[in-house]
Amino acid sequence: MPSETSKPTTFVQKPKTFSELQEGIRSRRVKAADIARTYYERIERTNEQLNIYLSLTKDRALEQAARIDDAASKGDPLGPLSGIPVGVKDVLVVRGAPSTAGSKILKGYQPPYDATAVARLEAAGAVLLGKLNCDEFAMGSSNENSAYGPVRNPVDPERVPGGSSGGSAAAVAADLAVATLGTDTGGSIRQPASFCGVVGVLPTYGRVSRYGLIAFASSLDRVGPFAANVRDAATVLSVIAGPDASDATSSSASVADYAAESDKGAEGLRIGVPEEYFAEGLDPEVREQIEKGIAALENTGCTVKRVSLPNTRYAVPTYYLVATAEASANLARFDGVRYGHRSPSSATLSDMYSHSRDEGFGAEVKRRIMLGTYALSAGYYDAYYLKAQKVRRLLADEFLRAFADVDAIVTPTAPTPAFKLGEKTGDPLAMYLADIYTVTASLAGICGVTVPCGATKTGLPVGMQVLASHMNESTAFRVARAVEAAKV
Ligand code: GLN
Repeated sequence: MPSETSKPTTFVQKPKTFSELQEGIRSRRVKAADIARTYYERIERTNEQLNIYLSLTKDRALEQAARIDDAASKGDPLGPLSGIPVGVKDVLVVRGAPSTAGSKILKGYQPPYDATAVARLEAAGAVLLGKLNCDEFAMGSSNENSAYGPVRNPVDPERVPGGSSGGSAAAVAADLAVATLGTDTGGSIRQPASFCGVVGVLPTYGRVSRYGLIAFASSLDRVGPFAANVRDAATVLSVIAGPDASDATSSSASVADYAAESDKGAEGLRIGVPEEYFAEGLDPEVREQIEKGIAALENTGCTVKRVSLPNTRYAVPTYYLVATAEASANLARFDGVRYGHRSPSSATLSDMYSHSRDEGFGAEVKRRIMLGTYALSAGYYDAYYLKAQKVRRLLADEFLRAFADVDAIVTPTAPTPAFKLGEKTGDPLAMYLADIYTVTASLAGICGVTVPCGATKTGLPVGMQVLASHMNESTAFRVARAVEAAKV
């Protein structure tokens, strides 16, 4: 019998870097088509155990790979992602491919168009392998709310991969994709990346188009990349970022070559450490790793300062009011008429609506629709939704004040390492409270990167969250590169 502290069987495998893969394709030592086939074989071998992919887009992948091999054979220049096998979270629509958002209500739904971020990946040469499992409508922190079963953490299959983009994080950790896309509304890229030991990016709100993203909470939702190293994650962000006529909230701010930016080093940067993120509830082993990471930044030539973000304690309730209110409005469109599941046996139209929704939505989604509808209802709007919007503003202002003194803020990404499957499913509030370190940046609209920062004694990854002000992704990448290089 394995003892409590023995290391579990792991599915962890480090993907090759973009430049290693592309060197092979360019020099024609390997074919993009063979790389894609190898990934499909790996997926076939391990997906049953890890439940990472919900569906595969094999024909599309092999067609794209053939185009790339053809270009390589003619000596044509490659795109920044040419031949790189990628997967995307199932909340992003892909033309003609099942796009379920992890929900039964969208089972079998095949959208007629591609999300902008997906189209941009492919235009840059990426080979789309398939769609990745996630919490239903991106609501959750453990991937246990997926209607298609939980994803298992490749580091320890008895544990959750985090959520809601659990499949996106786990795919990179197990090398079932070299890079992936996820979405982050309150931590859904950063927390699973930290639980699985990979890099995850929260772009500034508006940096990446939300066109083709099945909406959860529109004022908070962001699309962003996962990769095994900071440089490759930065490359993907440069590809998917930038204005899009199909999303009025996408920003026209100029997009940098973030990989090149990340090469600049972190020397001389001022790093803020907020005391509120090191208070009660933080696992001592996580604290120890993050403190080592901070010391490593100091050794690289950063100046470390204390900063204070006192409104942090209001962030979780504020987030769960704003997010559920917006979700209750966004999810009204799933009524059995236009998309997915329609209840077969209803006498009236109103019965058809309510039966379709009752049968199609899972328990957590229903809980949030009810919470959000309540918060928006006439008699309670001022007390809940309006109040939450005011606190949101205070939180954002507090970050702006802090960024007047520091270039980046570093914190643990999550208070604990990956927990066991089933450990928190009976207590939704405990699950919500664990989002404490990520929902703040979501409410403020600022950007960040989570980067692996060592592991606990039993080998569970710890992630450091590096936050930067609006549109300042370059700084976050520079700091994250320094933490990565320090091999904490
Ligand atoms: N865990 C948070 C929630 O359940 C965040 C989800 C997300 O970012 N999509 O709402």
